[in-house]
Amino acid sequence: MKAIRIHEPGDISVLRYEEVETPEPGIGQVRVRLRAAGVNHRDIWVRQGLFGPFSAPVIPGSDGAGEVDAIGPGVTRWTVGQKVVINPGLSCGMCRACLRGDQPACPSFRIFEGTYAEYAVVPETNLVAMPGGLTFAEAASIGIPYVTAEDFLIRAGAVPGQSLLLWGASGGLGIAALQLAKLRGLRVLAVTRSASRADRLRQFGADEVIVYAPGDDVSDEVLSLTQGRGVDIVVDSVGRESFFQSLNAVQRGGVVVTVGATTGGQVTLELGRLFRQRVTVLGAYMGSAAALPRLLPLFSRGLLVPVIDNTFPLEQADQAHEQLEQQGVFGKLILSV
Ligand SMILES: [Zn+2]
Repeated sequence: MKAIRIHEPGDISVLRYEEVETPEPGIGQVRVRLRAAGVNHRDIWVRQGLFGPFSAPVIPGSDGAGEVDAIGPGVTRWTVGQKVVINPGLSCGMCRACLRGDQPACPSFRIFEGTYAEYAVVPETNLVAMPGGLTFAEAASIGIPYVTAEDFLIRAGAVPGQSLLLWGASGGLGIAALQLAKLRGLRVLAVTRSASRADRLRQFGADEVIVYAPGDDVSDEVLSLTQGRGVDIVVDSVGRESFFQSLNAVQRGGVVVTVGATTGGQVTLELGRLFRQRVTVLGAYMGSAAALPRLLPLFSRGLLVPVIDNTFPLEQADQAHEQLEQQGVFGKLILSV
């Protein structure tokens, strides 16, 4: 099969389009003929080696959709030809965290990699039936961003009427968080770097759009938009450049969700800023295995809308990474396989 592989960490040039052996499904596993793969920031971190050095070449990519192509011994849930979406959280299934449905807290939790390829082998429990009305590209755009956003909104205790400041609102995770927050009845203050994206963010429900340039401080604007109180929840995927603004923009007792650090993750923090303001800093990384099967039907019903910025053929994965890193996106980038 054809696949994108990374042999050593680095820039986009390490994404190599290669012929590799087609994997065979083992006990309880299903082979999926992928038709589309979703590109996530996580794939860039994998490429850069942030999850550690590679012991063998890595096929990146965690989100994908396609058709069941072969089933291994003991597989009972799937038959060849079914359209499926990969649910990329891998966990033991037996520990206390798994049994209460909080798989990301499982000691052996990890995120599946291998959708930048024609075929991927996954445990049968990591597939969800693809609902009608979605294309493969749309189905591949949902997994990590929506599961992650759904999880942190629940854990942050989001309830109708609360306000939420959303950094990076036009990115894949941002659009997911925007739509899910609006569905929950929150007031969303969306931050974007591009004035040209403001109208589209409003179309997707943003109540206020703050256009941000590096070096700006958005917290004054947030305070004026919230009668001086600050927001209940901040969603921060930017990191070093935004984190202290997030602390300034959140109200007493509020929650700052940290869900990535595209400008770097090193900050020096005076702890009084947390305890005096009773602020919760909530780390977010994927979500419950039950989230994707629960969310997909909301797309079929039109309550959520998949937003795809651009689609590239698999062999141009490097171009997709370059766009995500350099030019930015409105929604998701997809590789068609
Ligand atoms: Zn477990």
